[in-house]
Amino acid sequence: NNEQAAAKAAAVNADSGAPTIFDKIINKEIPSSIVYEDEKVLAFRDISPQAPVHVLVIPKFRDGLTELGKADARHGEILGQLLYAAKIVAEKEGIADGFRVVINSGASACQSVYHLHLHVLGGRQMNWPPG
Ligand code: 5GP
Repeated sequence: NNEQAAAKAAAVNADSGAPTIFDKIINKEIPSSIVYEDEKVLAFRDISPQAPVHVLVIPKFRDGLTELGKADARHGEILGQLLYAAKIVAEKEGIADGFRVVINSGASACQSVYHLHLHVLGGRQMNWPPG
């Protein structure tokens, strides 16, 4: 039934702390379309864009931040840097007048990659509420 299927999907997608595909993107072992990069932050285009602009903003050093729900006080600075980088990305992409920033945290929010990331979405009318 649906409940069992959802439980199974959540288990498959649960945060194991294992390395993710984003480590390979950070290390340039697999290609990505980079939009912005600095010492701490990398931003690159989502492989499966949900809007004309869909960029992922990630910390280069995961440091336990597999998901936002695992953040603690020591992550305050990088969380601020990620949010500020999202604004820089929006400016670079020409959507600073209207864009959305999304963080899916945990299986019930449909998080699929357990390396914290902000989705920056725009270039079309965004609707509310999200699904
Ligand atoms: P989540 O569902 O965890 O919030 O978002 C993960 C995002 O990563 C998805 O939007 C998915 O399309 C994107 N993604 C997964 N694998 C890759 C990849 O190898 N390259 C890029 N550029 N994006 C990826």
